[in-house]
Amino acid sequence: MLQGREGLLLVVSGPSGAGKGTICQIVRENLQNLGYSVSVTTRKPREGEVNGVHYFFKTVEEVHKMIAEEQFLEYAEVFGNYYGTPKDFVFSQLKEGKDVLLEIDVQGALQVKKRFPRGVFVFIAPPSLEELSKRLYNRGTDSEQVIQKRLAGAKKELLLAKEYDYLIINDIAQDAAMRVLSLLNGERSRTERNISFIEKICREE
Ligand code: 5GP
Repeated sequence: MLQGREGLLLVVSGPSGAGKGTICQIVRENLQNLGYSVSVTTRKPREGEVNGVHYFFKTVEEVHKMIAEEQFLEYAEVFGNYYGTPKDFVFSQLKEGKDVLLEIDVQGALQVKKRFPRGVFVFIAPPSLEELSKRLYNRGTDSEQVIQKRLAGAKKELLLAKEYDYLIINDIAQDAAMRVLSLLNGERSRTERNISFIEKICREE
């Protein structure tokens, strides 16, 4: 293990359009040794998306097989497509002492919380529903129908923020990302995550 402790699982979640992606990108740029879990999806690649980098793009049949083989830490159907986190990558990184970032939807995050409660769960909220709507339209990646679905879903998801350890309001992405970095640093120093270090140096005496 790198620092003599298990890696920390940082789960960043929140409604679509809240800005999770931008925040996670800034966090990753600031933390080179952070493991990033590439999700599996049945969604078609958007322009510029690369298989194995942005997602592992799979067919519904392939995903069904992965579900049956219990290959996912969590999976969810989001706006008509499957999304899932392959569990082997996450657990091997954590075991090596490497911290891992998951950027996933709210249903998936709550599944991870059940299975792995010592993760750190961060909810990213938009500053207002009006701003959320603006962001979804400006993104220009989804049809009107999909945007309306995402907005309706967002209202329900906001009510689940109370299940998370931290709530970050994404007013300015750069500032919000700095707050995520601070909380990650704080969590890294939690006594329960590091107590084995004390036990180790005492044994060395
Ligand atoms: P998009 O299609 O815009 O890339 O992602 C749609 C939603 O799926 C986003 O909220 C994104 O965070 C979420 N998502 C991406 N990967 C995963 C995953 O592995 N599991 C779950 N549950 N959600 C995911």
